Amino acid sequence: MSSDRAGGPPAPRSEGLFERAQRSLVGGVDSPVRAFRSVGGAPRFLVRGKGAYIWDADRRKYVDYCMSWGALLFGHADPAIVRAVRDAAGRGTSFGAATEAEVRLAEEVKKRFRSIDLLRFVSSGTEATMSAVRVARGFTGRDKIVVFGGAYHGHADALLVKAGSGVAAAELSASAGVPQSAVRDTLVAEYNDVDSVEDIFRTHPNEIAAVLVEPVAANMGLVPPERGFLSDLRRITRDFDSLLVFDEVVTGFRVAPGGAQEKYGVTPDLTCLGKILGHGLPVGAYGGRREIMERVAPLGPVYQAGTLSGNPLAMAAGLATMRGLRPDLFRRLEEGSARVAAGLRDAASEAAVDFQVPRVGSMLGLFFRPDPVRNFGDARASDVRDYRTFFWSLLTRGVYLPPAPFETLFLSSTHEGNEIERTIEAASAAFAEVRNS
Ligand SMILES: *Cc1c(COP(=O)(O)O)cnc(C)c1O
Repeated sequence: MSSDRAGGPPAPRSEGLFERAQRSLVGGVDSPVRAFRSVGGAPRFLVRGKGAYIWDADRRKYVDYCMSWGALLFGHADPAIVRAVRDAAGRGTSFGAATEAEVRLAEEVKKRFRSIDLLRFVSSGTEATMSAVRVARGFTGRDKIVVFGGAYHGHADALLVKAGSGVAAAELSASAGVPQSAVRDTLVAEYNDVDSVEDIFRTHPNEIAAVLVEPVAANMGLVPPERGFLSDLRRITRDFDSLLVFDEVVTGFRVAPGGAQEKYGVTPDLTCLGKILGHGLPVGAYGGRREIMERVAPLGPVYQAGTLSGNPLAMAAGLATMRGLRPDLFRRLEEGSARVAAGLRDAASEAAVDFQVPRVGSMLGLFFRPDPVRNFGDARASDVRDYRTFFWSLLTRGVYLPPAPFETLFLSSTHEGNEIERTIEAASAAFAEVRNS
C-alpha cells in the first residue's frame, strides 16, 4: 500500500524541526498545505534555493516544481531579483508614503495588461481578490458574486465556499469561523460549464455584481478553460451588466506576459495579480477599467488601505521581474514544459498507469485517472493515493512536487535539460511504484 512509504527515507533534521515547530506554530506551519497532511509524513524544512533546486535541512537536493506556488518564474535566488531587493532594503524597508517605484511598477503592469487603466498594490493575492470583490459590489450596487467549484481565490470570508447540492443552491461556508451570512451571496457554478453560469444569472438577473474566475484553474489541479468558456463568461456578464473579474494571481506573467487575458484574447473588467508580480516578495494588485477603479478611496467610496501596500522591497522585486519578461522566455518555458509533460505521459503509459497531464504553458496538472479533467468533480475522481505514492517516490529521487494532489506544478526559466531529464528518469521509477502499490 502506498501509505507504507509515506515519509520517504529518514529525514532527522526536518523531522526534529517539525516536532519543535509544532510546539510554537499552529500545526508546525504558516499555511496548511505545507504540513504535508495530504501526502503524510513530515514536511521537509528548506534551507536554501538556487535556480530550479532547493535544499532541505538534511542536505538533500531537489528539483523544485512547487516554486513557491508559482511565484518564482526565474527560479530561486535569481541574481537580478536578489540585487534589486538588497539595493531597495538599503534605502529603507517601508515608508508608508508614496514612492516612485510604485508608479514605475504600475506603468509596467499596465503595459502588459491593457485592460487595466488604474490599479492598486496590496500585499497578497487574498487581499487582491477580496478588494476586487468589494469594488465590484461598490460599482454595481449588487451583492451577489459567482465563483466556480474547486476554485481558490485566497482566504477572504466571502470566497471560502464549497458548492452545496446543485448549482445556485444555498452555498456552504468551507471554513469554521466563516458565518453563513458571509457566503450567502456567493454562488457556485461549475468550471467549463456555461449553462451552470447562465442558470444562475437567469435566477438572479439583477443581483450579480461579478463573476470571479481563474482563467486557467490552477487550484483543483490544473484545468484549462475549454474553447469559448472565457468568452462566454464575457458575453453573459456583459448581457447582465455584471463584471467579469479574472483572478490572474497564478496566470499573470505566467501563461503570457499579459496573462491569460492576452493568451485567450478575453478582456475582463477587473484583474487580480500576485505571486510572480513580487517574485517571492509579498505583493498583490487589483486593477481594471478606470470608471470602476475610480470608486476606490481616495477617489471614491470603496475603502481599502494597507500599511505595507506598495512596499519598496516588493516593488523592487516586481520591477526586476518585469525586466526579465523577454519574448524568448515564454518560448523556452513552453518547450521545457512540453518536454516534461510528454516525458511524464510516456513514462505513465510505459508503466500502464492511468494518468492525465494537462498543461498550459509552464503549468502542469497531474491526475491519476484515465479520462481528461474538465472540472472539480473530475479532479476529485482521480486517485489521491496514487498521487501520494508518486509524490514520495519522486521526493526520494530528488524531485519535489507540491505536497498535495489538486495542485499545479510550475516550471521556471531555470528548469533546463538536466533538470528535465532527471525528472523524467525519476518519474519512470515512480510510475512503476504506483503500478505496484
Ligand atoms: C495563491 C492564490 C491566491 C491567493 O494569494 P495569496 O498571496 O496566497 O493570498 C488567489 N488566487 C489564486 C488563483 C491563487 O492561486
